[in-house]
Amino acid sequence: MTGTVILVGAGPGDPGLLTRKGLAALERADVVVYDRLVSPAILARIPARAEKIDVGKQPDRHPVPQHEIDRILLNKALEGHYVVRLKGGDPFLFGRGGEELELLAEHGVPFEVVPGVTSALAAPSYGGIPVTHRDFASSLHIITGHRRAGTELAIDFEALVRAGGTLVFLMGVAALQEITQGLLAAGMDPDTPAAMVERGSTPQQRRLSATLSTLARRAGEEHIQNPAVIVVGQVCSLAERFDWFDRLPLKGQSIIVTRPEDRAGALSDKLRALGADVMEYPCIRTTPIVPCSELDEALTNIGRYQRLAFTSPAGVAPLS
Ligand code: SAH
Repeated sequence: MTGTVILVGAGPGDPGLLTRKGLAALERADVVVYDRLVSPAILARIPARAEKIDVGKQPDRHPVPQHEIDRILLNKALEGHYVVRLKGGDPFLFGRGGEELELLAEHGVPFEVVPGVTSALAAPSYGGIPVTHRDFASSLHIITGHRRAGTELAIDFEALVRAGGTLVFLMGVAALQEITQGLLAAGMDPDTPAAMVERGSTPQQRRLSATLSTLARRAGEEHIQNPAVIVVGQVCSLAERFDWFDRLPLKGQSIIVTRPEDRAGALSDKLRALGADVMEYPCIRTTPIVPCSELDEALTNIGRYQRLAFTSPAGVAPLS
């Protein structure tokens, strides 16, 4: 019987931003085909029995060409598997999600789409930038700064400047200079507030605030790299005041959680919510001692005891 492909948006990095529906699909998956931008904390939620296929793309390198990814999805579904195609952010926003569905549709393979939290909104949010604000911007434009090899950016800068809304550029780090020059040449005020949010929503997030005329130079000085969003507009002036993520009490701290693998999750989630960079490195494993003569003896003589104390969750877990 033919399987199904679920196109799941993994969100921008913070595992808490994966939707419940996305997580449910992941937990049910037989095969997970994933990208470079999906965070390790989310990959950790893939069940051990599922086949994991990394088709991660680097900006200048496509280790697995797109048509091959399309083929993998088709073949795995035709083999009858429940296939999750996990993509960074939202699968339909500059994510080639549409292309991946075409071959499936052609072959009558059933598919579903689980939208994700896009970095175009989440990275500014985590950087303290509301993309619209009644006093500053009444529209939002999301633009790709990616250009096909050897071609110029296909951006209508005049139209963007005329529209007067907040501008968010994805895939724009390499073309940053051209983007800011294009906006200036189209008449945008050089003092317009502008910002970049690098690795938004992750513990490594950095925000750079500048103006349209200084952004490219400042980004060079700070070595801002992909993945990063570029935000241009008056709303960027709010970032210093609204910068909640950088103020979390454990922001900038790396914490290793050494609890047993099956019990690390809850603690890690709490630490992440406080801004910590959490690495799970289980140093403890609990295994039953069988046979255990002391325990057998205690059980045989259980009538002699008044109290029975269990000292940890492992002490009451059934033997598997
Ligand atoms: N579908 C994705 C976008 C894919 S294009 C989404 O909805 O988010 C890849 C671009 O997304 C990157 O070049 C970068 O501009 C942006 N991006 C993805 N994750 C990001 C993150 N955590 N922080 C900042 N920008 C990110």
